[in-house]
Amino acid sequence: MVPNYAPMQIVPAKGVGSRLWDVEGNEYIDFAAGIAVSVLGHAHPLLVETLTRQANCFWHVSNLLVNQPSIELAERLCHLTFAQKVFFANSGAEVNEAALKLARRHALDHFGPNKINIVAFDHSFHGRTFFTVSVGGQEKYRQGFGPNPDGIFHLPFNDSGAITDFFEHRGDETCCVILEPIQGEGGVRPVTKEFAQTISRLCKQHGALMIMDEVQTGVGRSGQFYMYQKLDVIPDILTTAKGLGGGFPIGAMLTTDSIAQSLAVGTHGSTFGGNPMACAVANKIIQLLCESDLLSQVDAKSRMLITGLERIGQKHDLFSEIRGEGLLIGCELGGAWKDQARDILNSCMKEGLMVLVAGTNVLRLAPALNINDNDLQAGLERLEKAVSRLSRDRDTA
Ligand SMILES: *Cc1c(COP(=O)(O)O)cnc(C)c1O
Repeated sequence: MVPNYAPMQIVPAKGVGSRLWDVEGNEYIDFAAGIAVSVLGHAHPLLVETLTRQANCFWHVSNLLVNQPSIELAERLCHLTFAQKVFFANSGAEVNEAALKLARRHALDHFGPNKINIVAFDHSFHGRTFFTVSVGGQEKYRQGFGPNPDGIFHLPFNDSGAITDFFEHRGDETCCVILEPIQGEGGVRPVTKEFAQTISRLCKQHGALMIMDEVQTGVGRSGQFYMYQKLDVIPDILTTAKGLGGGFPIGAMLTTDSIAQSLAVGTHGSTFGGNPMACAVANKIIQLLCESDLLSQVDAKSRMLITGLERIGQKHDLFSEIRGEGLLIGCELGGAWKDQARDILNSCMKEGLMVLVAGTNVLRLAPALNINDNDLQAGLERLEKAVSRLSRDRDTA
């Protein structure tokens, strides 16, 4: 494989719930969930059953036909949200690509060819296709691939003054604003309610679309099915992927009836989008999350996790801030631990705990939403051991 990743020397062989075993039989507790993907843990029996049942029917028919799982999933997503129309694809980047194309086309249809500006925020992440890296707010991902598309502006995150000023001058040429309710890759930074509402108001005033990228925050991770439901705003377009298939690739773009009219026959497409295997699994995940008390337990699990983190943090003078929502938690490293996130991750692996980082200075935790209290506590113990081990190694070095 091309060397774009730097994978660890561990090869998983089997998973059950929030535990994983590698090919050598070592056990891990999973606080990473495949980057906020495996919302119901590994090998959930009802998901395995659903997938197997669909596998025994048919796997793929393309968009020359519809299929029952995709119709059912579109209905569920509309029922759960503001949306009236859904476009299916296979990943977060693809549904953001669709959202950005839709915003440009919608502006062309209603306002003519000059309304092309896209506003995004510093440190944001929207995927790795050429359009989505161009829009994302991390220069290192966007450069070195030739000229980026025009009309893209990056503003400071959570700065209402800056975006108000921008809209005063360029609002009428702006077709959309795209934001994450919590900047995930950018360091687990939640949007303020006030900023989200400012964006919503400016978009309405200037005929621009508000795109909520809920690829990481969606499907219950914040404690609400989608996090916009906590912010008292209603986006025009919402994108969702990661957790939606619980590990089976799927993404969806949600929008209103009237905006959807700009994706007329032939304007956009995807061979695998709406794949019945992916849609069958996503239906089951939504059913399991919404017809149980799992979502209402997210806050309690979150508090338990944060309490444990605070205790470890104080003991080892580890964190300068712990932030996030629900089960997407970022721990900013402070003092002597500054920029040591990768070392901590590696040490956790040695203790049998999988965690994530977001940049060099934030430890990111995104366990399965159904992780049990036992696994949560055991994971915290392993984190503490990993930190103690690092401290010891440093003292002797
Ligand atoms: C992961 C992520 C993406 C990209 O999703 P892929 O499935 O990797 O293409 C886009 N936006 C956000 C907020 C993400 O966290």
